[in-house]
Amino acid sequence: MGSDLTTSVQLGNGKTITLPSGLYINGEWVKPAKGVTLDVYNPATNKVIAQVYEGDAEDVDAAVKAARAAFEKDDRSWGFGSPQNRAKLLNKLADLVDENAELLSAIEATDQGKTYTSALYGDIPGVSQTIRYYAGWADKITGKTYNSIPGTFSHTRYEPIGVCGQIIPWNFPALMFAWKIGPALATGNTIVMKTAETTPLSALKIAELIHEAGFPPGVFNLVTGRGPTAGQAIADHMDIDKVAFTGSTFTGRRIMESAAKSNLKKVTLELGGKSPNIIFGDVKSIKEAAEWAIFAIGANVGQVCTAGSRLLVEETIAEEFTKEFVALTEKIKVGDPFDAGSTQGPLNSEGHFEKVKGWIKTAVEDGATVATGGKDISSNNNGGYFLSPTVFTNVKAGHRILENEVFGPVVSIQTFKTEEEAVEIANSTQYGLAAGIFSDSATRLNRLNTKIRAGTVWNNMYNFASPTIPFGGYKQSGIGRENGEVALLNYLEVKSVIANGGEIRSPFAGLSG
Ligand code: NAP
Ligand code: MG
Repeated sequence: MGSDLTTSVQLGNGKTITLPSGLYINGEWVKPAKGVTLDVYNPATNKVIAQVYEGDAEDVDAAVKAARAAFEKDDRSWGFGSPQNRAKLLNKLADLVDENAELLSAIEATDQGKTYTSALYGDIPGVSQTIRYYAGWADKITGKTYNSIPGTFSHTRYEPIGVCGQIIPWNFPALMFAWKIGPALATGNTIVMKTAETTPLSALKIAELIHEAGFPPGVFNLVTGRGPTAGQAIADHMDIDKVAFTGSTFTGRRIMESAAKSNLKKVTLELGGKSPNIIFGDVKSIKEAAEWAIFAIGANVGQVCTAGSRLLVEETIAEEFTKEFVALTEKIKVGDPFDAGSTQGPLNSEGHFEKVKGWIKTAVEDGATVATGGKDISSNNNGGYFLSPTVFTNVKAGHRILENEVFGPVVSIQTFKTEEEAVEIANSTQYGLAAGIFSDSATRLNRLNTKIRAGTVWNNMYNFASPTIPFGGYKQSGIGRENGEVALLNYLEVKSVIANGGEIRSPFAGLSG
């Protein structure tokens, strides 16, 4: 499939393109030490569409050495150099992403399975917006001065942390790439990134654009590969100063353990969720609330960490709402991501498809009722990993579907009688990533916005995010926040300089002689 360091890719729109297939280390495309390849599948057809290289611990080590050298280079070319230069490079990269938006969207739709339209109007513009937003911060990072010790000039300096390991997931491959590199590069760090096994392609294209933009060699390094090998090597590495991870709570916990057991590298984690979406009887329009609830669970086929997977509906409207919601669910057009009529593509991988079907089986075993969906419809769809959107009713406390992240088009409906009960159910899981509240009462919304234990709370809407607004989880949904000004701190060390103004004598002055 192509030359040694390129691969031809059969896109889902029928076109064939060529992408780099090597690892990107020290500004060059290279083969991994072992030369092992990884098949890349189109989830809509279950066919191999490309081959990329699989890096492992040795390659991570080579990438860390390059990143370390670029960080330490004493020529002001990067982290301790001009912030305007970093902004210029990031802005150039954002422009290149925009120029390649259609291609990147087609790559993302083919490799990930999301609809081409959602990639073109959501993910890829989100990539360039994020990079541009952080470019704007590069020269606005300033310390403070302190007058608290008279006779000193005391101040803080914010400095880059150093070499950052970044491990990204497969649900928003390009967007998570941008959320990771934006704040890290704006603040002058260097990066070793690992993509998810099933979605390496958009990262390979963006790495090509990073090269074209002219970033110094070693500032950004990409190792495609598998979690337990390349990913684990990042978490364990003694010369990585910080690791940022997005993915499951299970893997996040392992990464934190590895960080603790190796060099205590700093850790930020963006993990799973089981987010409640609460619908009160006083909503202005039941139909509109149901439409938002469809978007809450259905966007990206439910493979969204904030997915509104637990619908909590006030008893007074439960029957009418459920009827409306099930009817809308049945209207979802499942099909080819490149077909303009499709609103839902396939799940991302065969393994994940099996896992989601497993959760559906578990919910049925626990006694929940399938109100609609729950069917493997791969055979009507070229063998791709297609599932009909699934709604469960009669879901009760203790059912495993209420506590475990399914990460698919599967939602449960529970009912409640009082606001207190709604809050109690909403806060009853190990997670705290997001929540939705639908009500026409502003006072109720204000009250609940403080009571819900989650990093993002939407009111009368759902699943909107922006690079300018912090994003992350309470409880076991994560540590730290991405996006916004606050994310810069994930990539900065604070140094306090306390300097004698010349008038403070040595503590021992006058004691000797
Ligand atoms: P995962 O294992 O957490 O994968 C996320 C990333 O971590 C991938 O790049 C993965 O590589 C890597 N990884 C896996 N094991 C690792 C290890 N021991 N050390 C370092 N990195 C490692 O998630 P998954 O297995 O793909 O999906 C499982 C579940 O995670 C999903 O069903 C969903 O519930 C949740 N998830 C959440 C998010 C989110 O946005 N919060 C995103 C994705 C998945 P490989 O891909 O090569 O294994
Ligand atoms: Mg995995």
